[in-house]
Amino acid sequence: MPEVEEKSRFDGIELHALATALPTPFHAYSANAIRQRISGLQQALQGLDATICFAVKANSSLAILQLMAESGVGADIVSAGELNRSLRAGIPADRIVFSGVGKTEAEMAEALDAGVGRFNVESFDEFETLQRVANAHKVIARAAVRINPDVDARTHQKISTGKSDNKFGVSIDEARRWFSGSKAFPNVRLDGLHVHIGSQILDLEPFRQALARVARFWHELAEAGHEIASIDVGGGLGVVYRAGHDRAIDPVEYVRTIREALTGFEGRILLEPGRYLVAEAGLLLTRVIRTKRGESRNFLIVDAAMNDLMRPSLYDAWHDIQLIGATAAEGERPATTYDVVGPVCETGDTFAVGRELPECRAGDLLAIRCTGAYGASMSSTYNSRPLAAEVLVDEGRYSVIRRRQSFEEMIMGEQAATSWRNV
Ligand SMILES: *Cc1c(COP(=O)(O)O)cnc(C)c1O
Repeated sequence: MPEVEEKSRFDGIELHALATALPTPFHAYSANAIRQRISGLQQALQGLDATICFAVKANSSLAILQLMAESGVGADIVSAGELNRSLRAGIPADRIVFSGVGKTEAEMAEALDAGVGRFNVESFDEFETLQRVANAHKVIARAAVRINPDVDARTHQKISTGKSDNKFGVSIDEARRWFSGSKAFPNVRLDGLHVHIGSQILDLEPFRQALARVARFWHELAEAGHEIASIDVGGGLGVVYRAGHDRAIDPVEYVRTIREALTGFEGRILLEPGRYLVAEAGLLLTRVIRTKRGESRNFLIVDAAMNDLMRPSLYDAWHDIQLIGATAAEGERPATTYDVVGPVCETGDTFAVGRELPECRAGDLLAIRCTGAYGASMSSTYNSRPLAAEVLVDEGRYSVIRRRQSFEEMIMGEQAATSWRNV
């Protein structure tokens, strides 16, 4: 019984009460859990000249970005949309770094106008384009080269980014040529190094290898007379999706790895955690629509779907799922094995296969755990399902930070083909 109690409380609120006040499905985030992650990492970084830049793509809700801003956290962005969200949330432009392989000229111009702190440049063409755009704007862009260290992050292949066959970054050999030829780029101050090897990393070794390669390159550049003002160590810290199975990296150990690799570095260290700051602070609340006994499987059909949480469909990701609620004393319900599925017309719309849960009935409330990162930010309206609400919970209170999309909002901008033009 106490265990059921504990599961049902979330930052001082009873989840079943919250799900009575708001229709499911919806995402809920604990403000305290996010603040704790931030302050834990900030404490580990004490004594270093370090700035945390939250990877906005992990959770781009304005209220979450405001929480980041209040804690002095900057932003790592990958689009003009994320730039504008970060600025709107009050994150100062000089604490914003702009990553991504496909920055357009228009996005570069917008970011330069806003005064973003740094561009993480991922290809020679981008380097040349940034020079041209900065010159046209009569400004000097600060830039770091994103190094592809050719390190295996030992994570899911779709979220591994630091192997030489991934689209991200450039080799150290190429980066070396950029530095020696940087006089031809007077509007780009190339004085930073950047590395990001992948996501959901649960092992320090790949970080150690990548940082060692970056550090060696920094020493080489410094000896050649190039001033390196910042080293951006990227994100990628993993979280516990499966309690009792995954083992997360201790942030103190992670920071120690950075300290050791970058001993003697006097510039600024940037960190770009996304998932680590928000994933475990979030859950997706959903109700059972019905159960269905198939020929060989038991299906639990819930009102959340792949459009609300893509990770299981996209990466075969595991999320713990718990039955919540005052009537859900687990002892009274026999354990049953279910495939937990949503209503979307795709076999991939599956949250869990062969998962053991207490026997469920229509109307039961379930929490899909650890959905604060790459949950709502990856959602869509597939099957014309409106975007789910998002709720921030803080010490027994809650605030709706995104109301559920209405049908009219969902079709906004669509129109009948009545106005035809020639090009
Ligand atoms: C996605 C991304 C991150 C954040 O990754 P997490 O695994 O969520 O920490 C950081 N930096 C860059 C460049 C990214 O693309």
